[in-house]
Amino acid sequence: MSMIYLDNAATTPLLPEVLKEMLPYLEGQYGNPSGLYQISAEAKNAVENARKTIADTLGCEPEEIYFTSGGTEADNWAIKSVYRAGKKKCHIITSQIEHHAVLHTCQALEREGCAVTYLKVDEMGRISPEELEKAICPDTALITIMTANNEVGTIQPVRKIGEIARRHNIFFHTDAVQAYGHFPISVNKLGIDMLSASAHKFRGPKGAGFLYIKKDLDLPPFMHGGAQERGRRAGTENVPGIVGMGRAASLAHREMEEREQKTSAMRDYMIRRILGEIPFARLNGSWKNRLSGNCNISFQFVEGAALLVLLDEEGICAAAGSACSTGSREPSHVLKAMGLPDSIAHGTIRLTIGSQNTMEEIDRAVESIRKCVARLRSNSPEFEDLMDGRK
Ligand SMILES: *Cc1c(COP(=O)(O)O)cnc(C)c1O
Repeated sequence: MSMIYLDNAATTPLLPEVLKEMLPYLEGQYGNPSGLYQISAEAKNAVENARKTIADTLGCEPEEIYFTSGGTEADNWAIKSVYRAGKKKCHIITSQIEHHAVLHTCQALEREGCAVTYLKVDEMGRISPEELEKAICPDTALITIMTANNEVGTIQPVRKIGEIARRHNIFFHTDAVQAYGHFPISVNKLGIDMLSASAHKFRGPKGAGFLYIKKDLDLPPFMHGGAQERGRRAGTENVPGIVGMGRAASLAHREMEEREQKTSAMRDYMIRRILGEIPFARLNGSWKNRLSGNCNISFQFVEGAALLVLLDEEGICAAAGSACSTGSREPSHVLKAMGLPDSIAHGTIRLTIGSQNTMEEIDRAVESIRKCVARLRSNSPEFEDLMDGRK
């Protein structure tokens, strides 16, 4: 029985075209882009082509794209550099449902004396622009709110956030790691000053990402060393990774709409089947403002971790709240912020569909989920009581 991969929010399989593009830079084309001879010039050229491709997808200048080792580094860079650039007191506004790359960075800065406001979200996982505006104070230097959430797939009102940030002359950073490549993002139209993305979330290689930094932002370097990335992020470029990311970015923006429609059709079909065929199941997050591949579902009277084990035996890869929090028994901070009681949050799994998945796989996955949920519930005294009408 073949595996069914439904954890595309954790990582995605490398596209064959991307691998093909990368291979020469792992073999003969090994030049250091800083060198002064032919193979270096070729490597440098490949890196700059990727920069141009990515800049075009965001509607910005190539000089505004900085390569990083991934989304986590880009988030750290954006937030820490604003804090370090400030000569006086610093206040940051973020949300309670950010990825840990943002949340833990903010918490670390709090220990250094930075003030941080963690905005609440509604039951769909959306922040309120009014609450955001109310949280602004004279010291506010940065608003960092994700474009779309990795656990429940909720898309934030980014344009409104950008407007508010502009009106108050505050930097706006967005973690777009889940969103980039799924819908068009124009940094200028949306009022975004900094944006993080990661190649392995859009069919590119792991260990490559980028941070968009608007031209006129005067921020200190993140990595000290050589002159790479205009002196702001030292270190020899990950040439194969950057080349692969450029190719993946270009492919993600080609036929984007058709691909997204196909993915969201699979998503809606899966959600409808699960909710229709399995009792005591609920969808978390928003129907309307939702990433195309995200299904986040809670099953009452089921332990999410146990369900994942059974699904794994069926060859199905799914996640608990988020890949970063598996292993810990704490319910997901995102579901908690959305007001889900712990007992229900514990029975939650995340299934994320990618463009490589098929309807046949979705059908097989739903059958397995139905079977596994029933099996776990048959061992649950609470569920048996409920069915016997004793409660
Ligand atoms: C995966 C992810 C990250 C981290 O990206 P890496 O490249 O794995 O470091 C950050 N933010 C969000 C929303 C993510 O989904």
